[in-house]
Amino acid sequence: MINPKMQSLGAKRSVIRELFEYGKKRKAEIGEDNVFDFSLGNPSIPAPNKVTDGIRELLDKESSILLHGYTSAEGDFSVRTKIADYVNSKHEETFNPECVYMTVGAAAALTISLNALVSEGEEVICIAPYFPEYKVFVEKSGGKFVSVCTNDDFSLNIESIKSAINENTAAIIINSPNNPTGVVYSEESIIELSKMLNEMSKKIKKPIYLISDEPYRELVYDDTFVPYISKYYENSIICYSYSKSLSIPGERIGYILISPRIDDFRSVKEAIAGAGRSLGFVCAPSLLQRLVSKCLGVTAEVDIYDTNRKMLLSALTEYGYNVTKPEGAFYLFIKSPSGDGQEFSDRAKGLDILIVPSDDFGTKGYARLSYCVKTEMIERALPQFKKLIESYN
Ligand code: PLP
Repeated sequence: MINPKMQSLGAKRSVIRELFEYGKKRKAEIGEDNVFDFSLGNPSIPAPNKVTDGIRELLDKESSILLHGYTSAEGDFSVRTKIADYVNSKHEETFNPECVYMTVGAAAALTISLNALVSEGEEVICIAPYFPEYKVFVEKSGGKFVSVCTNDDFSLNIESIKSAINENTAAIIINSPNNPTGVVYSEESIIELSKMLNEMSKKIKKPIYLISDEPYRELVYDDTFVPYISKYYENSIICYSYSKSLSIPGERIGYILISPRIDDFRSVKEAIAGAGRSLGFVCAPSLLQRLVSKCLGVTAEVDIYDTNRKMLLSALTEYGYNVTKPEGAFYLFIKSPSGDGQEFSDRAKGLDILIVPSDDFGTKGYARLSYCVKTEMIERALPQFKKLIESYN
């Protein structure tokens, strides 16, 4: 029999994808320039030269057998060594190659981590608004998805998280810089969270793992500081991706970084390896592993996103929208003037502006705008945004 859970997952399209598909159809009807598609988080900045040059260099200089062959399941040793050394030098940490497990992007890093750390029926806390796939990933791991709201400014509400913890809690996922709000969690809040998690781990007599999902780590503005989680909390796992930082989401490459100070490191490492194996990942793409090890410290041209961010923030605020100032990532979270996110998204769609209602992110009353788009499109869209808010008056 077909697995009904899987069938319903596949049959139910994501709201984001649906809007994106609608945008393509609409563009064919009324012209590319007349549709303002802010639905997808697909980077619009080209990958840095170092990426394209790096691929050419690898193809020219490396043995094809090595380049296209299997690596060990956790990744090539020299690649893992370079990544650990890089993170250590950047964040004054003490990772060794054993802490690094190469993955097919952050999505795989998350599914592997969840399958490794969560046992059937255990609970995983996610902070709403959250990346909608968390629910899918947690449930597939056999865990129970527990949503906890942030404060009104989308900062962490430590008391609410604490109240959600019980003896079934296995892990908590945080994502900063955040999709969909653009908020970066402050160092103070990470210190507070770590302190509380340590207290509660003691109370429930088992470690509560902190999984930090970090595909947007490098995409920050105004020198915003993004605390490096493992420095604050020992039982942490970092899920990193090059999708956004190098503008290569279709290439699928990232890693899991296990804190060297995690409780029972050996068992965690074995569980990660077992989860990767059972999910059939075999190894992350060999060529891409070698490529990213040549691009450490390289980031796509974030200035373009910053230009977009400033332009939208100043215009939308001037028109009367209530928006959260993003400190990172490339998303703007806009409060619905009617208080209803779906209605706001639908009304925007009527003016050919495609923004995603917040309901699937676990929070009602907002819409997410993705500004990893061409600046010219934003310029063309602004009069429509003005019309949109005026339609509420
Ligand atoms: N986590 C968050 C918060 C994301 O926004 C995304 C992608 O948009 C992912 C994970 C998945 O990223 P990847 O392409 O590395 O799998």
